[in-house]
Amino acid sequence: MTGQSERIHGERAIRSIVIVGGGTAGWMAAAMLARRLEKQRVKITVVESSAIGTVGVGEATVPGIRDFFREIGVTEREVMAASHGTVKLGIEFADWKRPGHSFFHPFGLYGMRSRGVAFHHYWQKLRAAGEPVELADYCLATAMAKQNVFMLPTDRPVHDLLFFDWAVHFDAGLFAKFLATRAVSDGVTRVDATISTVRINAQTGLIDGVDTNCGKAIDGDLFIDCTGFRSLLLGAALGSGYEDWSNLLPCDRAVAMPCERAGPLTPFTRSTAFAQGWQWRIPLQHRVGNGLVYASRHLSDDEAVATLRSRIEGAPLAEPNLIRFRTGHRRDFWRGNCVGLGLAAGFMEPLESTSITLIQTGIEKLLALFPDRDFDPALASEFNRSTTLEYERIRDFLLLHYWANDRRGEPMWDQCRDTALPEALANKLRLFRARGHLVRYEWESFQDPSWLSMYAGFDIAARTYDPAADYFSIPDLQSALARMRESIGKAVALGEPHDAFLKAYAVAS
Ligand code: FAD
Repeated sequence: MTGQSERIHGERAIRSIVIVGGGTAGWMAAAMLARRLEKQRVKITVVESSAIGTVGVGEATVPGIRDFFREIGVTEREVMAASHGTVKLGIEFADWKRPGHSFFHPFGLYGMRSRGVAFHHYWQKLRAAGEPVELADYCLATAMAKQNVFMLPTDRPVHDLLFFDWAVHFDAGLFAKFLATRAVSDGVTRVDATISTVRINAQTGLIDGVDTNCGKAIDGDLFIDCTGFRSLLLGAALGSGYEDWSNLLPCDRAVAMPCERAGPLTPFTRSTAFAQGWQWRIPLQHRVGNGLVYASRHLSDDEAVATLRSRIEGAPLAEPNLIRFRTGHRRDFWRGNCVGLGLAAGFMEPLESTSITLIQTGIEKLLALFPDRDFDPALASEFNRSTTLEYERIRDFLLLHYWANDRRGEPMWDQCRDTALPEALANKLRLFRARGHLVRYEWESFQDPSWLSMYAGFDIAARTYDPAADYFSIPDLQSALARMRESIGKAVALGEPHDAFLKAYAVAS
C-alpha cells in the first residue's frame, strides 16, 4: 500500500532516538528497539557515562524476562552462560509472617481446576473440614525448589497440574554488557560521555538535544531517559514530579554485598525478614548476591552494614554498596518527546523483582504507542495511565507482604500492620475473605497463583468457598489430592540437581 497515510507517517517519522544511560534499562531499550525498528532505519544512540557507572544491583527476574530474550533473538542458555545465570523458580519468604515460619511464592499453578472450579476452593473446603492440607504441596515449582532440582518445562510430562514457569538470576553488569554487544552489532551507536545539559526548545517544550561535558552536542527526535535515580531528562530537565509512596512501604535504603559461594546453589531467591527490613540472597554460578533492604527510621547505615556482614554465608567479594531510594514513580512517565525507563521512571523495592519487568513492559508499551514527530499527547497520556496502574498493582502486592505480617513487638512491623490500605487492595482482600474470590484488575503483573501464595503463606483465610466445590465429597477430594501429590512427586523425580543442570546447560563462558 502506498496510500497517503503511509506517506504522511513517513514524512513525520521518528528518525533518531537518543537513550541516555547505559544500565540495564538503557541497554534493554537499545537491544529491543534496534530489533523492532530495524526496517525503519531509525538511528539509535546510547550515551552512558563510565565516570558515573550504574547502580550495580538487580539480579533477580520474573518469567516474563524470557519473552524479552526471545524478542531480541537470544536464548536463555546464551544469556545464562554470559551472565553466570541460575534458575529461579520463585521466592522463599522466611520469617515474614513470624520468625521461624516460611512459605514459597512459586512461578507455577496450584493443583487442577475441576468442573470449572479453581483448585483453591477444594483446598479451602478440605481445610474447613479440618483436613491439614497445604496448598504448597500441589505446586510443581515449589516441590522442585524444595528438592533443589530443575528441568526445562519442555522436558516434563504434559499435564495441567505439572505446569510451571521459570525466570533467571544473573549478574546484572554482565547482562548489560551482553545486551550492549548485541545492540551495537545491530547498529546502535555507543557514546561514553557525561551529559551536562539538556536543551529544551522554548517554543515546543520538547528536548532538542543533550550536550556532553566535553562539548559534544547530541540531537534527536525521541529521548529515552535511563539515567537511573538522577532522572536527568524526565525529572530534572522536564520537571515531571514524583508520586511518593514512602507512607505505604517503610523501607528507603539498601546495602548490597556479594560473597563467595557457600551452601547449596538454590533455584530460588530467598527473602528473609528481620526487625528493620529484609535480606535477599540470590545465588549465581560464581557468587552469591546479598543485600539488606531496610527502613532508615529504624536502622542506621552502619548498623545495616554490620547486620549484613553478620548474616552472609561466604567471604565478601566487594565493599558494601549503600543505596538510598524513595518508593514511588514520576507523575508523567512520558512527557513531550521523552520517555523514562528503569530507575529514572520510578522504583519499588526489589521484594518481588519487579523493576526489570517494568523496564520490559515500558519498552513494549512504547513500541505499541510509538509516536511520530508530532508526539500526539494521546499516546503519552495512555502510556502514563497504563504505567501508573501497573505500578499501583505492584505496589499493592508488595504492601500485602508487609501489612499481613505477624511479627509482633517490632516497631517497624507493628506500624506496617496498621497501614491504611489503598481501596483496590482492600477490595481484593474483602473478596478473598468473602468466598475465596480472586480479583484481577487491569495491568496486574501478578496473577492468581501469586496472590494465593501470599494468602496461604500469611494464613489469610476465606470465610467460605465456591459452593460448586460441594459437587465432590470429602473422600473424593482426599483421593484426588493424593493422586495429584503422587503425580508431582513423579515429576520432581525427573528433575536434575540445579548445579548439575547448569553445568550441562549454561556453564558460564
Ligand atoms: P542505572 O543502573 O543507575 O544506570 C544509569 C545509567 O545512566 C548509567 O549508565 C549511568 O552512567 C548513566 N548516567 C547517569 N547520569 C548520566 C549523565 N549525566 N550522563 C551520561 N550518563 C549518565 N530489579 C529487578 O528486577 N530485580 C532485582 O533483583 C533488583 N534488585 C535491586 C536491588 C536494589 C537494592 C535496587 C536499588 C534495585 C534493584 N533492582 C532490581 C532494580 C534494578 O537494579 C534497576 O531497575 C536496573 O538496574 C535498571 O537500572 P537503570 O538502568 O535504570 O539505572
